[in-house]
Amino acid sequence: MRLILLGAPGAGKGTQAKNIVSKFKIAHISTGDILRDEVRNSSGLGIKANQYMKEGKLVPDELIIEIIRNMLVKGGGKSGFLMDGFPRTMVQAEKFDEMLAGLGQSIDRVINISVDSERLIKRLTSRRVCSSCNNICSISNNEEDKEGCPSCGGSLYKRKDDREEVIKHRLKVYEQQTKPLIDYYKKSGLLFEVDGSGTETAVTERILSIL
Ligand code: AMP
Repeated sequence: MRLILLGAPGAGKGTQAKNIVSKFKIAHISTGDILRDEVRNSSGLGIKANQYMKEGKLVPDELIIEIIRNMLVKGGGKSGFLMDGFPRTMVQAEKFDEMLAGLGQSIDRVINISVDSERLIKRLTSRRVCSSCNNICSISNNEEDKEGCPSCGGSLYKRKDDREEVIKHRLKVYEQQTKPLIDYYKKSGLLFEVDGSGTETAVTERILSIL
């Protein structure tokens, strides 16, 4: 199964991606996670990407396309994948279609998780990531320093791009550059809409019901 998960920052793509890939035993390809690893390792790509990411801007298409091309060439996602955070621009979507066609592959479904903007901002400002297992969770102000990761007890950190001024920019970038992909995949008959409000389990069930 080859899937794409679309949605604004904070829509719950990362959380839902983990639930879906564990059910279908397919690869979870998150360009955001790949880039954050590169930044952590101070690789050439990481150094180039870091400035864009800190400011909530998109990393240039050619760098992202190269990551995906390398992954496909090495046979990554051969037995199915879920793309989380890719494609994010029309150029990426068209290139991805071309690359898959070259391998005789195609996308089975595109799932768009929609959440209203007030809730997106609330989720992003309270989002924390586990430094040990990358689990994504939400924290309320009074829990701030006490609670570790609910899965493994590791320490939680706030992503640099989850600061309010960066969040606003990321949401603007989403509206301008990523939202048009909804129509692109609607036209090809691949798009399925999912309401992203409610509990994590409720949203997972909605997604599973269309797969
Ligand atoms: P995410 O974890 O998906 O929210 O991505 C975090 C950041 O990584 C984004 O704000 C971008 O700066 C960068 N990024 C991730 N995926 C892409 C992509 N497909 N195209 C361009 N930039 C990306």
